[in-house]
Amino acid sequence: MELLDNPVRAYAWGSRTVIPEMLGQEVPSPHPQAEMWLGAHPADSSQLVHPDGGRTSLLDALGADPKLLLGPERSERWDSTLPFLLKVLAADEPLSLQAHPSLEQAREGFAREEAAGIARDAANRNYKDANHKPELICAITELDALVGFRDPTATVRLLRAIGVPELNGHAELLAAQPDADGLRALFTTWITLPQAVLDTLVPALQDGCVKLAGDDGEFSTEARTVLELSERYPGDAGVLAALLLNRVSIDPGDALYLPAGNLHAYLSGAGIEIMANSDNVLRGGLTPKHVDVPELLRVLDFRSTPPPIVEGKPDGDWVRYDTPAEEFLLRRLDGTSGTTVPVPGGGPRILLCTVGGARVRTAGAELEVGRGASLWLSAADTDATAEPLAEGTQLFLASDSLVV
Ligand SMILES: [Zn+2]
Repeated sequence: MELLDNPVRAYAWGSRTVIPEMLGQEVPSPHPQAEMWLGAHPADSSQLVHPDGGRTSLLDALGADPKLLLGPERSERWDSTLPFLLKVLAADEPLSLQAHPSLEQAREGFAREEAAGIARDAANRNYKDANHKPELICAITELDALVGFRDPTATVRLLRAIGVPELNGHAELLAAQPDADGLRALFTTWITLPQAVLDTLVPALQDGCVKLAGDDGEFSTEARTVLELSERYPGDAGVLAALLLNRVSIDPGDALYLPAGNLHAYLSGAGIEIMANSDNVLRGGLTPKHVDVPELLRVLDFRSTPPPIVEGKPDGDWVRYDTPAEEFLLRRLDGTSGTTVPVPGGGPRILLCTVGGARVRTAGAELEVGRGASLWLSAADTDATAEPLAEGTQLFLASDSLVV
Protein backbone atom coordinates (compact mmCIF):
# COMPACT_ATOMS: atom_id res chain seq x y z
CA MET A 1 0.00 0.00 0.00
CA GLU A 2 1.43 3.37 -1.00
CA LEU A 3 0.23 6.93 -1.52
CA LEU A 4 -0.27 8.13 -5.10
CA ASP A 5 0.60 11.38 -6.81
CA ASN A 6 -1.60 11.89 -9.85
CA PRO A 7 -1.31 13.91 -13.06
CA VAL A 8 -3.88 16.67 -13.68
CA ARG A 9 -4.82 17.55 -17.27
CA ALA A 10 -5.60 21.14 -18.18
CA TYR A 11 -8.11 20.79 -21.05
CA ALA A 12 -9.87 24.05 -21.92
CA TRP A 13 -13.33 22.77 -20.86
CA GLY A 14 -12.16 22.07 -17.30
CA SER A 15 -13.32 23.70 -14.08
CA ARG A 16 -11.00 26.06 -12.19
CA THR A 17 -12.51 25.13 -8.83
CA VAL A 18 -13.50 21.47 -8.39
CA ILE A 19 -10.11 19.72 -8.66
CA PRO A 20 -7.98 22.50 -7.09
CA GLU A 21 -10.43 22.69 -4.19
CA MET A 22 -10.23 18.91 -3.73
CA LEU A 23 -6.43 19.12 -3.74
CA GLY A 24 -6.34 22.06 -1.32
CA GLN A 25 -4.87 24.42 -3.92
CA GLU A 26 -5.54 28.04 -4.82
CA VAL A 27 -9.09 28.61 -6.14
CA PRO A 28 -9.82 29.57 -8.87
CA SER A 29 -6.75 27.96 -10.39
CA PRO A 30 -4.80 29.91 -13.03
CA HIS A 31 -5.60 27.21 -15.63
CA PRO A 32 -8.66 24.99 -16.01
CA GLN A 33 -8.18 21.60 -14.34
CA ALA A 34 -10.28 19.17 -16.34
CA GLU A 35 -9.19 15.69 -15.29
CA MET A 36 -7.02 14.02 -12.69
CA TRP A 37 -5.87 10.57 -13.83
CA LEU A 38 -5.37 7.82 -11.25
CA GLY A 39 -3.82 4.76 -12.81
CA ALA A 40 -1.11 3.51 -15.11
CA HIS A 41 -2.04 4.81 -18.55
CA PRO A 42 1.11 4.97 -20.72
CA ALA A 43 0.36 8.60 -21.64
CA ASP A 44 0.14 9.81 -18.02
CA SER A 45 0.81 7.42 -15.15
CA SER A 46 0.33 8.09 -11.44
CA GLN A 47 3.44 7.98 -9.23
CA LEU A 48 3.83 5.78 -6.16
CA VAL A 49 5.10 7.95 -3.30
CA HIS A 50 7.40 5.91 -1.06
CA PRO A 51 7.70 6.55 2.71
CA ASP A 52 11.15 8.14 2.12
CA GLY A 53 9.61 10.58 -0.36
CA GLY A 54 11.03 8.79 -3.42
CA ARG A 55 8.75 8.13 -6.36
CA THR A 56 8.21 5.41 -8.92
CA SER A 57 5.81 5.57 -11.83
CA LEU A 58 3.00 3.07 -11.24
CA LEU A 59 3.37 2.04 -14.89
CA ASP A 60 7.06 1.18 -14.33
CA ALA A 61 6.33 -0.61 -11.05
CA LEU A 62 3.72 -2.76 -12.82
CA GLY A 63 6.14 -3.46 -15.66
CA ALA A 64 8.81 -4.59 -13.18
CA ASP A 65 6.66 -7.08 -11.25
CA PRO A 66 3.14 -7.51 -12.64
CA LYS A 67 2.59 -10.84 -10.88
CA LEU A 68 3.22 -9.35 -7.44
CA LEU A 69 1.19 -6.18 -7.97
CA LEU A 70 -1.74 -7.63 -9.91
CA GLY A 71 -1.68 -11.19 -8.56
CA PRO A 72 -0.87 -14.15 -10.84
CA GLU A 73 -4.39 -14.72 -12.26
CA ARG A 74 -5.03 -11.08 -13.00
CA SER A 75 -1.57 -10.55 -14.39
CA GLU A 76 -2.38 -13.19 -16.98
CA ARG A 77 -5.97 -12.05 -17.58
CA TRP A 78 -4.97 -8.41 -18.06
CA ASP A 79 -1.73 -9.00 -19.91
CA SER A 80 0.42 -7.54 -17.09
CA THR A 81 -1.38 -4.17 -17.17
CA LEU A 82 -3.77 -2.35 -14.84
CA PRO A 83 -7.17 -2.90 -16.51
CA PHE A 84 -8.87 0.28 -15.30
CA LEU A 85 -8.23 4.01 -15.24
CA LEU A 86 -9.90 6.18 -12.59
CA LYS A 87 -10.43 9.91 -13.16
CA VAL A 88 -11.80 12.94 -11.40
CA LEU A 89 -13.57 14.83 -14.19
CA ALA A 90 -14.68 18.45 -13.74
CA ALA A 91 -16.36 20.23 -16.67
CA ASP A 92 -17.37 23.87 -16.81
CA GLU A 93 -18.10 23.62 -20.53
CA PRO A 94 -19.36 20.86 -22.81
CA LEU A 95 -16.96 18.13 -23.89
CA SER A 96 -16.91 16.91 -27.46
CA LEU A 97 -19.65 14.73 -28.90
CA GLN A 98 -18.07 11.30 -28.88
CA ALA A 99 -18.28 7.54 -28.85
CA HIS A 100 -15.86 4.76 -28.04
CA PRO A 101 -15.13 1.64 -30.08
CA SER A 102 -15.78 -1.97 -29.13
CA LEU A 103 -12.77 -4.18 -28.43
CA GLU A 104 -12.96 -5.67 -31.91
CA GLN A 105 -13.23 -2.24 -33.57
CA ALA A 106 -10.34 -0.89 -31.49
CA ARG A 107 -8.05 -3.81 -32.39
CA GLU A 108 -8.89 -3.44 -36.07
CA GLY A 109 -8.61 0.38 -36.03
CA PHE A 110 -5.33 0.37 -34.13
CA ALA A 111 -3.79 -2.14 -36.54
CA ARG A 112 -5.07 -0.16 -39.53
CA GLU A 113 -3.59 3.15 -38.31
CA GLU A 114 -0.30 1.46 -37.36
CA ALA A 115 -0.10 -0.02 -40.85
CA ALA A 116 -0.87 3.39 -42.38
CA GLY A 117 2.07 4.84 -40.43
CA ILE A 118 0.02 7.49 -38.56
CA ALA A 119 2.09 8.55 -35.54
CA ARG A 120 0.41 7.62 -32.24
CA ASP A 121 0.50 11.24 -31.08
CA ALA A 122 -0.63 12.70 -34.44
CA ALA A 123 -3.67 14.98 -34.29
CA ASN A 124 -5.52 12.80 -36.82
CA ARG A 125 -4.83 9.55 -34.97
CA ASN A 126 -8.12 7.92 -33.77
CA TYR A 127 -6.90 4.72 -32.12
CA LYS A 128 -4.24 5.46 -29.51
CA ASP A 129 -4.31 1.85 -28.30
CA ALA A 130 -5.96 -1.46 -29.17
CA ASN A 131 -8.39 -1.48 -26.26
CA HIS A 132 -12.09 -0.68 -25.89
CA LYS A 133 -13.18 2.04 -23.48
CA PRO A 134 -16.48 1.35 -21.73
CA GLU A 135 -16.88 4.01 -19.04
CA LEU A 136 -18.96 4.87 -16.00
CA ILE A 137 -19.21 8.28 -14.36
CA CYS A 138 -20.58 8.79 -10.85
CA ALA A 139 -21.72 12.36 -10.24
CA ILE A 140 -20.20 14.29 -7.32
CA THR A 141 -22.09 17.48 -8.29
CA GLU A 142 -25.19 17.70 -10.44
CA LEU A 143 -24.00 16.35 -13.78
CA ASP A 144 -25.59 17.28 -17.11
CA ALA A 145 -25.05 15.20 -20.21
CA LEU A 146 -26.33 14.06 -23.57
CA VAL A 147 -26.28 10.26 -23.68
CA GLY A 148 -27.54 7.76 -26.24
CA PHE A 149 -30.25 8.17 -28.86
CA ARG A 150 -33.66 9.22 -27.56
CA ASP A 151 -36.78 7.29 -28.57
CA PRO A 152 -37.25 8.56 -32.16
CA THR A 153 -40.99 9.23 -31.66
CA ALA A 154 -40.09 11.69 -28.89
CA THR A 155 -37.46 13.25 -31.17
CA VAL A 156 -40.13 13.73 -33.84
CA ARG A 157 -42.25 15.58 -31.24
CA LEU A 158 -39.22 17.74 -30.38
CA LEU A 159 -38.50 18.59 -34.03
CA ARG A 160 -42.16 19.45 -34.64
CA ALA A 161 -42.22 21.61 -31.51
CA ILE A 162 -39.15 23.54 -32.67
CA GLY A 163 -41.16 24.28 -35.82
CA VAL A 164 -38.32 25.30 -38.14
CA PRO A 165 -39.49 24.89 -41.76
CA GLU A 166 -35.99 23.79 -42.85
CA LEU A 167 -36.26 20.83 -40.45
CA ASN A 168 -39.79 19.71 -41.37
CA GLY A 169 -38.61 17.28 -44.03
CA HIS A 170 -36.14 15.74 -41.59
CA ALA A 171 -38.81 15.35 -38.90
CA GLU A 172 -41.13 13.60 -41.34
CA LEU A 173 -38.36 11.25 -42.53
CA LEU A 174 -37.82 10.14 -38.94
CA ALA A 175 -41.59 9.92 -38.34
CA ALA A 176 -41.82 7.56 -41.31
CA GLN A 177 -39.01 5.37 -39.94
CA PRO A 178 -38.85 5.78 -36.15
CA ASP A 179 -36.12 3.21 -35.52
CA ALA A 180 -32.34 2.67 -35.61
CA ASP A 181 -32.24 2.90 -39.41
CA GLY A 182 -34.17 6.17 -39.37
CA LEU A 183 -31.81 7.57 -36.75
CA ARG A 184 -28.79 6.44 -38.76
CA ALA A 185 -30.17 8.11 -41.90
CA LEU A 186 -30.95 11.40 -40.16
CA PHE A 187 -27.71 11.53 -38.16
CA THR A 188 -25.67 10.74 -41.27
CA THR A 189 -27.50 13.44 -43.26
CA TRP A 190 -26.89 16.07 -40.59
CA ILE A 191 -23.30 15.22 -39.73
CA THR A 192 -22.26 15.35 -43.40
CA LEU A 193 -24.09 18.58 -44.39
CA PRO A 194 -21.88 21.09 -46.22
CA GLN A 195 -20.73 23.96 -44.02
CA ALA A 196 -22.69 26.48 -46.14
CA VAL A 197 -25.95 24.66 -45.34
CA LEU A 198 -25.07 24.39 -41.64
CA ASP A 199 -24.36 28.10 -41.55
CA THR A 200 -28.03 28.81 -42.28
CA LEU A 201 -29.62 25.73 -40.69
CA VAL A 202 -28.03 26.04 -37.23
CA PRO A 203 -29.06 29.71 -36.80
CA ALA A 204 -32.61 28.78 -37.93
CA LEU A 205 -32.63 26.02 -35.32
CA GLN A 206 -31.37 28.51 -32.76
CA ASP A 207 -34.28 30.87 -33.54
CA GLY A 208 -36.74 27.99 -33.27
CA CYS A 209 -35.37 27.05 -29.85
CA VAL A 210 -35.63 30.51 -28.30
CA LYS A 211 -39.39 30.24 -27.74
CA LEU A 212 -39.25 26.61 -26.56
CA ALA A 213 -36.45 27.43 -24.12
CA GLY A 214 -38.62 30.05 -22.49
CA ASP A 215 -41.72 27.95 -21.91
CA ASP A 216 -41.94 25.20 -19.32
CA GLY A 217 -42.88 22.53 -21.81
CA GLU A 218 -41.63 19.00 -22.45
CA PHE A 219 -38.51 20.14 -24.27
CA SER A 220 -37.44 23.43 -22.64
CA THR A 221 -34.21 21.92 -21.28
CA GLU A 222 -33.37 20.41 -24.67
CA ALA A 223 -33.96 23.81 -26.31
CA ARG A 224 -31.74 25.59 -23.79
CA THR A 225 -29.00 23.03 -24.47
CA VAL A 226 -29.23 23.72 -28.22
CA LEU A 227 -28.87 27.45 -27.51
CA GLU A 228 -25.84 26.92 -25.27
CA LEU A 229 -24.12 24.58 -27.73
CA SER A 230 -24.82 26.73 -30.79
CA GLU A 231 -23.49 29.81 -29.04
CA ARG A 232 -20.23 28.00 -28.30
CA TYR A 233 -20.00 26.10 -31.59
CA PRO A 234 -21.85 28.17 -34.22
CA GLY A 235 -22.52 26.23 -37.41
CA ASP A 236 -21.38 22.92 -35.88
CA ALA A 237 -23.22 19.78 -37.03
CA GLY A 238 -22.91 18.50 -33.45
CA VAL A 239 -25.62 21.00 -32.45
CA LEU A 240 -28.06 19.20 -34.76
CA ALA A 241 -26.88 15.79 -33.56
CA ALA A 242 -27.57 16.88 -29.98
CA LEU A 243 -31.28 17.00 -30.89
CA LEU A 244 -31.29 13.22 -31.20
CA LEU A 245 -29.84 12.42 -27.78
CA ASN A 246 -31.26 11.94 -24.29
CA ARG A 247 -30.66 15.09 -22.22
CA VAL A 248 -30.07 14.06 -18.60
CA SER A 249 -29.22 15.68 -15.27
CA ILE A 250 -28.12 13.25 -12.60
CA ASP A 251 -27.71 13.91 -8.88
CA PRO A 252 -24.56 13.23 -6.85
CA GLY A 253 -24.31 9.51 -6.15
CA ASP A 254 -26.00 8.43 -9.40
CA ALA A 255 -23.94 7.24 -12.35
CA LEU A 256 -24.08 6.88 -16.13
CA TYR A 257 -22.71 3.85 -17.98
CA LEU A 258 -21.47 4.39 -21.53
CA PRO A 259 -20.98 1.14 -23.45
CA ALA A 260 -19.23 0.89 -26.82
CA GLY A 261 -20.98 2.81 -29.58
CA ASN A 262 -22.99 5.07 -27.25
CA LEU A 263 -22.94 8.66 -28.56
CA HIS A 264 -22.50 11.08 -25.67
CA ALA A 265 -21.32 14.50 -24.54
CA TYR A 266 -20.88 15.64 -20.95
CA LEU A 267 -22.21 19.19 -20.67
CA SER A 268 -21.22 20.34 -17.19
CA GLY A 269 -20.60 19.07 -13.69
CA ALA A 270 -18.10 16.89 -11.89
CA GLY A 271 -17.82 13.18 -11.35
CA ILE A 272 -15.62 10.21 -10.61
CA GLU A 273 -15.11 8.36 -13.85
CA ILE A 274 -13.81 4.85 -14.32
CA MET A 275 -13.03 3.18 -17.61
CA ALA A 276 -11.06 0.45 -19.29
CA ASN A 277 -7.47 1.63 -19.64
CA SER A 278 -7.77 3.23 -23.06
CA ASP A 279 -7.78 6.64 -24.72
CA ASN A 280 -9.78 5.71 -27.83
CA VAL A 281 -12.25 8.49 -28.64
CA LEU A 282 -14.09 9.08 -31.92
CA ARG A 283 -15.47 12.60 -32.11
CA GLY A 284 -18.45 13.92 -34.03
CA GLY A 285 -18.29 17.64 -33.29
CA LEU A 286 -18.53 20.27 -30.55
CA THR A 287 -14.74 20.35 -30.35
CA PRO A 288 -11.73 22.02 -31.92
CA LYS A 289 -10.06 18.56 -31.88
CA HIS A 290 -9.83 16.01 -34.70
CA VAL A 291 -13.26 14.88 -35.98
CA ASP A 292 -13.47 11.74 -38.12
CA VAL A 293 -17.08 11.31 -39.23
CA PRO A 294 -16.71 8.12 -41.31
CA GLU A 295 -14.93 6.39 -38.43
CA LEU A 296 -17.54 7.61 -35.95
CA LEU A 297 -20.35 6.30 -38.18
CA ARG A 298 -18.60 2.94 -38.26
CA VAL A 299 -18.71 2.49 -34.47
CA LEU A 300 -22.02 4.16 -33.50
CA ASP A 301 -24.88 2.15 -32.08
CA PHE A 302 -28.07 3.76 -33.42
CA ARG A 303 -30.53 1.83 -31.28
CA SER A 304 -32.42 4.20 -28.99
CA THR A 305 -32.05 3.59 -25.26
CA PRO A 306 -33.43 5.20 -22.12
CA PRO A 307 -30.74 7.25 -20.34
CA PRO A 308 -28.26 4.63 -19.05
CA ILE A 309 -28.44 5.65 -15.39
CA VAL A 310 -26.84 3.28 -12.88
CA GLU A 311 -27.99 3.55 -9.28
CA GLY A 312 -25.59 2.30 -6.65
CA LYS A 313 -26.48 -0.94 -4.86
CA PRO A 314 -25.61 -1.61 -1.20
CA ASP A 315 -22.49 -3.77 -0.82
CA GLY A 316 -21.81 -4.12 2.91
CA ASP A 317 -20.90 -0.64 4.14
CA TRP A 318 -20.23 0.46 0.54
CA VAL A 319 -22.33 1.22 -2.52
CA ARG A 320 -21.33 -0.45 -5.79
CA TYR A 321 -22.02 0.47 -9.41
CA ASP A 322 -22.39 -2.71 -11.45
CA THR A 323 -21.84 -2.72 -15.21
CA PRO A 324 -21.09 -5.49 -17.71
CA ALA A 325 -17.43 -4.34 -17.88
CA GLU A 326 -14.93 -6.79 -16.37
CA GLU A 327 -12.14 -4.22 -16.39
CA PHE A 328 -13.62 -2.05 -13.68
CA LEU A 329 -15.90 -1.78 -10.69
CA LEU A 330 -16.49 1.45 -8.79
CA ARG A 331 -17.59 1.53 -5.17
CA ARG A 332 -18.43 4.49 -2.91
CA LEU A 333 -18.37 4.80 0.86
CA ASP A 334 -20.15 7.55 2.76
CA GLY A 335 -18.40 7.05 6.06
CA THR A 336 -19.14 7.75 9.69
CA SER A 337 -16.21 8.67 11.92
CA GLY A 338 -15.32 6.17 14.61
CA THR A 339 -16.25 3.13 12.53
CA THR A 340 -13.83 0.82 10.74
CA VAL A 341 -15.02 -0.93 7.59
CA PRO A 342 -13.42 -3.55 5.37
CA VAL A 343 -12.11 -2.36 2.00
CA PRO A 344 -13.84 -4.81 -0.38
CA GLY A 345 -12.65 -6.43 -3.59
CA GLY A 346 -9.34 -8.01 -4.48
CA GLY A 347 -6.43 -7.59 -6.82
CA PRO A 348 -5.06 -4.12 -7.57
CA ARG A 349 -7.19 -1.28 -6.23
CA ILE A 350 -7.05 2.52 -6.02
CA LEU A 351 -8.74 4.34 -3.15
CA LEU A 352 -9.56 8.04 -3.49
CA CYS A 353 -10.82 10.35 -0.75
CA THR A 354 -13.11 13.10 -2.08
CA VAL A 355 -14.47 14.44 1.24
CA GLY A 356 -13.06 14.28 4.79
CA GLY A 357 -10.27 11.82 5.48
CA ALA A 358 -9.59 8.21 6.42
CA ARG A 359 -7.02 5.95 8.03
CA VAL A 360 -6.36 2.85 5.95
CA ARG A 361 -4.73 -0.23 7.44
CA THR A 362 -3.42 -3.44 5.92
CA ALA A 363 -1.64 -6.32 7.65
CA GLY A 364 1.68 -4.53 7.26
CA ALA A 365 0.99 -0.82 6.98
CA GLU A 366 -1.12 2.16 7.96
CA LEU A 367 -1.63 5.34 5.93
CA GLU A 368 -3.88 8.39 6.15
CA VAL A 369 -5.58 9.99 3.19
CA GLY A 370 -7.07 13.47 3.37
CA ARG A 371 -9.37 15.12 0.86
CA GLY A 372 -8.05 14.69 -2.68
CA ALA A 373 -5.46 12.08 -1.63
CA SER A 374 -5.37 8.56 -2.95
CA LEU A 375 -3.55 5.32 -2.43
CA TRP A 376 -2.61 2.17 -4.24
CA LEU A 377 -3.38 -1.28 -2.90
CA SER A 378 -1.62 -4.12 -4.70
CA ALA A 379 -2.91 -7.69 -4.84
CA ALA A 380 -0.65 -8.42 -1.86
CA ASP A 381 -2.47 -5.84 0.31
CA THR A 382 -5.23 -8.09 1.55
CA ASP A 383 -7.52 -7.51 4.55
CA ALA A 384 -7.45 -3.73 4.21
CA THR A 385 -9.74 -1.61 6.37
CA ALA A 386 -10.72 2.06 6.26
CA GLU A 387 -11.59 4.25 9.24
CA PRO A 388 -13.26 7.53 8.29
CA LEU A 389 -11.79 10.41 10.31
CA ALA A 390 -14.60 12.91 9.79
CA GLU A 391 -18.36 12.83 9.51
CA GLY A 392 -19.42 12.71 5.87
CA THR A 393 -16.11 11.30 4.66
CA GLN A 394 -16.47 10.05 1.10
CA LEU A 395 -14.23 7.42 -0.45
CA PHE A 396 -14.23 5.91 -3.94
CA LEU A 397 -12.66 2.52 -4.57
CA ALA A 398 -11.63 1.32 -8.02
CA SER A 399 -10.94 -2.32 -8.86
CA ASP A 400 -11.72 -4.74 -11.64
CA SER A 401 -14.96 -6.72 -11.37
CA LEU A 402 -13.43 -10.20 -11.46
CA VAL A 403 -14.05 -12.61 -8.64
CA VAL A 404 -10.77 -14.52 -8.45
ZN1 LIG B 1 -16.65 9.23 -23.41
